[in-house]
Amino acid sequence: MTNHPVYNFSSGPGTLPEAVLRTAQHEMLDYNGTGMSVMTMSHRSDMFMSILHHAEQDLRGLLAIPDNYKVLFLQGGANAQFNMVVMNFANGFKRVDSVVTGNWSATAHSQMGKLSDVDIHLAADGKPSGYTALPGVGEWDIDAGSAFVHFVSNETANGLQYRTMPTLPEGMPPLVCDMSSEILSRKINVADFGVIYAGAQKNIGPAGVTVVIIREDLLERCSDRVPNVWNYKTHINKQGMYNTPATYPIYIAGLTFRWLQTQGGLKKMEALNDLKAETLYSAIDNSGGFYTNNIHPDARSKMNVVFSTGNADLDKRFALEASFRGLEFLSGYKSVGGMRASIYNAMPLEGVAALIDFMTEFQRRYG
Ligand SMILES: *Cc1c(COP(=O)(O)O)cnc(C)c1O
Repeated sequence: MTNHPVYNFSSGPGTLPEAVLRTAQHEMLDYNGTGMSVMTMSHRSDMFMSILHHAEQDLRGLLAIPDNYKVLFLQGGANAQFNMVVMNFANGFKRVDSVVTGNWSATAHSQMGKLSDVDIHLAADGKPSGYTALPGVGEWDIDAGSAFVHFVSNETANGLQYRTMPTLPEGMPPLVCDMSSEILSRKINVADFGVIYAGAQKNIGPAGVTVVIIREDLLERCSDRVPNVWNYKTHINKQGMYNTPATYPIYIAGLTFRWLQTQGGLKKMEALNDLKAETLYSAIDNSGGFYTNNIHPDARSKMNVVFSTGNADLDKRFALEASFRGLEFLSGYKSVGGMRASIYNAMPLEGVAALIDFMTEFQRRYG
């Protein structure tokens, strides 16, 4: 045990609210007087069905999800969604538009066409900018006849985020968005999207569950030829119980949704996230060039803040020494290098302040 708090800046699995973990600890051996752990309960029991039901209702409340949207808690991570959205929603279409803005949308782009004849059209490419700027919606080359337009709203590895959420005019294909590393960090208008999906382990709960929010009319596109386990319609028809869902991660996600309610919902969360990000970016910008962030100011992520000293050895030392201070997992993504501080909902302002204190001290010693 350390005698000072540990702040976990991991990009995923990421930090969770201490209150959520304490509740889980308290209920570990005896959930709600049942004498059983949630982990060991039948997924078809009333007790678990109630957990699932409340998790969905609370998520609907937080995001103000309209009634014509279905919510699923699936497995396979966001990676599985790259293909599921194509298998289910590109059926009968010739083209999917794919916006590439960083590591995760590039991975999606490379995978979406597999097991499908559909053309995955590169609608915009941030690579020439070294993934330091985001192509605006006006620059996306999209076609009204495409099955959908896929994009990633927050690029976890590169530290980019659409600060204004893209929307498409009436008559354009539905937007399919990977929101893994920012869902529930700000208010969004769900009705602007055809599909939203997010692996839980960034901003919701433990690894193992993926939230998928689907506009109902799109389900008409699902074909019985898609195997049941990858078929959204099957999961919806079976109320999320086609096969065993990730029961324990869903329970923790439910606790996080309730925690978010007690924090004042997404409006409060957004204000706190704005403050944390502004504080950290200004520390970087005011370091006299010792620390730099090369992302275009309009595209700087409020969730994953990347920075570097410009010296790979010094960056490594930074992450190592920070870890001795209980500031964990500050190394950048493997292909990006440098440092990355993931400051999801559960990261308190104190954690950002502790990081900035360390940055100042590190600069004093090595600057
Ligand atoms: C982490 C991440 C993924 C990958 O998620 P898995 O759950 O590991 O499949 C995909 N997209 C984004 C934006 C991510 O942050």
